[in-house]
Amino acid sequence: MTNKAYKFRLYPTQEQAQLLAKTFGCVRFVYNKILEERIQIYEKFKDDKEALKQHKFPTPAKYKRDFPWLKEVDSLALANAQLNLQKAFTNFFSGRAGFPKFKSRKAKQSYTTNVVNGNIKLADGYIQLPKLKWVKLKQHRQIPVHHIIKACTITKTKTGKYFISILTEYEHQQVPKEIENVVGLDFSMNTLYVDSEGKRANYPRFYRQALEKLARAQRVLSRRRKGSNRWHKQRLKVAKLHEKIANQRQDFLHKASRQLANRYDAVVIEDLNMKGMSQALHFGQSVHDNGWGLFTTFLQYKLAEQGKKLIKIDKWFPSSKMCSCCGRVKASLSLTERQFRCECGFVADRDINAAINIKKEGLKKLGTA
Ligand SMILES: [Zn+2]
Repeated sequence: MTNKAYKFRLYPTQEQAQLLAKTFGCVRFVYNKILEERIQIYEKFKDDKEALKQHKFPTPAKYKRDFPWLKEVDSLALANAQLNLQKAFTNFFSGRAGFPKFKSRKAKQSYTTNVVNGNIKLADGYIQLPKLKWVKLKQHRQIPVHHIIKACTITKTKTGKYFISILTEYEHQQVPKEIENVVGLDFSMNTLYVDSEGKRANYPRFYRQALEKLARAQRVLSRRRKGSNRWHKQRLKVAKLHEKIANQRQDFLHKASRQLANRYDAVVIEDLNMKGMSQALHFGQSVHDNGWGLFTTFLQYKLAEQGKKLIKIDKWFPSSKMCSCCGRVKASLSLTERQFRCECGFVADRDINAAINIKKEGLKKLGTA
């Protein structure tokens, strides 16, 4: 079984929006209540792990007696709050995460509900959800009929928009595609990548303009008095721009990865450690903005869907310093040298030379070179 999630914009009525706000609040309330109890139990038994494990998590039903208004919202959303906290504790005990924290009002507004006895259905631009009945949504793509809906997560953004992420499950047996067309990509700070055929994936102009606009808006915000009306207004403006930019970036990354996945049978990339790289090069923000990580994630599943391959080669492979024509490796190559010139007479754009080397190394790994 394979999972795939579909995200759509939701348009609740005013009444539904009120119930959603109530549900977000109840989920947070139940989460914090259970956490409160668990902290007491933890304090009491922290030296006795077995005793700690035997103490079962309280269920939301327990609170419904004292707080009857909890019955007004989707009970599966509350059950998931408990499961999430349980998971947070499991992660804490295994050392993967810190001690669970209380959820504040400022935390992300969202909840997850599950499909039980066909309680969630999609039809004609609407989705049926527990307690909410039919909520309007903009379904810009179809969910294939063989996909079974398992769960839905409803989120409200800081700018007041609603989204639903529909998690589906389906039977999937992918036959590996015979590899004929291969391309190498060299990561590029400015354009995302340069490929072994010399093409650059350029971020669209409107995206760059939006980034400049955001920088200006942030400067204005920093000058306003924190907490003032004008500050709140500007903060919303910044949040809206952030949202717009994140969407534009995601759109671009989806399109770029879709084109590659459709055109090639295998794509070769360097296995870059972005975190280490941004620290080492002090590029911090721009590496992060570049969305390379997101891009490779999209590329990976878009290729896999078609039985194609994403090949990662060692990040220590000297892709930039090697001549893609004769194989000589230069002792040094400064970042300012945009042209690669080799003793053998080969001259090429530095990034294209690197992309060709990456492709060749990938072919070696595939055993088809
Ligand atoms: Zn050479």
